Amino acid sequence: MESVRNNAAIIRANIETACKRVNRDPASIRIIAVTKYVSIERAKEALTAGITDLGENRDDGLLQKYEAIGQKATWHFIGTLQSRKVKAIIDKVDYIHSLDRLSLAREIEKRALQPVRCFVQVNVSGEATKHGLSKDEVLPFIEQLRSFSNIEVVGLMTMAPYTDDEPFLRQCFRQLKLLQQRVQALGIPNAPCTELSMGMSNDYMIAIEEGATFIRLGTSLVGKEQ
Ligand SMILES: *Cc1c(COP(=O)(O)O)cnc(C)c1O
Repeated sequence: MESVRNNAAIIRANIETACKRVNRDPASIRIIAVTKYVSIERAKEALTAGITDLGENRDDGLLQKYEAIGQKATWHFIGTLQSRKVKAIIDKVDYIHSLDRLSLAREIEKRALQPVRCFVQVNVSGEATKHGLSKDEVLPFIEQLRSFSNIEVVGLMTMAPYTDDEPFLRQCFRQLKLLQQRVQALGIPNAPCTELSMGMSNDYMIAIEEGATFIRLGTSLVGKEQ
């Protein structure tokens, strides 16, 4: 397997290329190394390569890696989160990317010791297999979070369909950006919504061109071990 350092160098060059096209500062983009397919050792390699944001999509995977790595990393929970798992991870995660229902918000509100940075997950494409709120549900949902003192809606997150149809992907990301602007216009104190978590190995350059501030990279950065 290619070293994480080499993969990261390629990705950083690609980020620079995408940023140049749209006049963005590469420093405004944070790379999350998605370590769900790889070992603790490989996750540590990401840290050595200077990538300190790590993402896991399962509670057990997160806990296992957290135990080995701890607060040397910034932890992102990026997968579907069952309410009963909140308690186990809440004091370990820095960001939750998958807030998609009120019952989950209530559990986070109850368990958190301090405000938790959350992304509201949106199913922009309407694909049946994807989690997240429909576009129409996003604004009313965030309105309902107004009184939640332990939830800060830092941004919106989406997973685009796996396809090489570039115009379609671009359209997905653009719609998330437009929704973000509508959330910001609400002026809700705990929903600044300054961030966009979008772009994976297959589509991150397009996502950056459309305004991503967090990209979530598994295969292209740390690879896949099983
Ligand atoms: C697995 C996963 C990723 C990373 O996927 P790659 O295509 O391997 O980069 C990103 N986001 C989420 C939510 C994931 O589950």
